[in-house]
Amino acid sequence: MKSIIMAVIAAMLMAPQAFANVTVFACEPEWKALVEELGGEHVEVYSATTAFQDPHHIEARPSLIAKTRQADLVVCTGAELEIGWLPLLLRQSGNAAIQTSEQGYFLAASQVQRIEVPTLLDRSQGDIHASGNPHVYWDPYRLLTIAKALSQRLQAIDPSNSSSYQHKLRKFSNDWQVAIKRWEHHAEKLRGKRVIVYHKNWSYLLNWLNIEVIGDLEPKPGLPPTSTHLARLLEATRANKPDYILIANYQDDKGAQWLSDKTGVPVINLAFTVGGSKQATSLLTLYDELFTHLAANDD
Ligand SMILES: [Zn+2]
Repeated sequence: MKSIIMAVIAAMLMAPQAFANVTVFACEPEWKALVEELGGEHVEVYSATTAFQDPHHIEARPSLIAKTRQADLVVCTGAELEIGWLPLLLRQSGNAAIQTSEQGYFLAASQVQRIEVPTLLDRSQGDIHASGNPHVYWDPYRLLTIAKALSQRLQAIDPSNSSSYQHKLRKFSNDWQVAIKRWEHHAEKLRGKRVIVYHKNWSYLLNWLNIEVIGDLEPKPGLPPTSTHLARLLEATRANKPDYILIANYQDDKGAQWLSDKTGVPVINLAFTVGGSKQATSLLTLYDELFTHLAANDD
């Protein structure tokens, strides 16, 4: 009998763990995707938002609070992107491990230098990019920096699997650097193109590709297009005609369509993050898809 019990205990100890070592609460799908790349079988990740939501405006629902309660690590964008909901979730979670000064709190935008930091902030003007542009993952180099920092954080939280995290980071970095070369090759043809965007959510991408933004459909980040503003944009396009109007598929396309009808400039409607289209199942395929669409409209 005793030997049977010992055998059962031994089998239980040797059995692979059926549960992940690190439970992660990601604010957006791009960070869920990155944590899964870097953590693989060691992580269990929940994303608070989908690709069809605007992460600037999310409600701190009880179901989200419940998820933060179970998390070992919170991975969010930061730079005030989630200012309307994340602080509330953290407060309500009662989870000491994920509070702002703890190891379990990771902000992607804090790992890199941000662009478009306002010199003079006027919140009454609806500016929701008070700490600079938070949409950092559309720069592949910044994303790599963030990946390294995130991998280190996973290793700190779960040191028993350090070598596995290091291996996954090496693989991700290698694949990503190969992809950057491919994207930059495609981008040569896009250099000097001009676009109108809906919101300043592609700024890192457009800077990287040397594509010029000649206007935003939003009069200020966070303020919906007005007819006066659209009329002004139409006037501006007469002297400086853009090649595309670029919008994310969670954004209202009314203003973009109106301007397109008046000018003949095509609207490119893209997945903004992982899960936003059938093809965009990972960060890599998300970027790939964007290049496919930009190239298809290139003439
Ligand atoms: Zn924004």
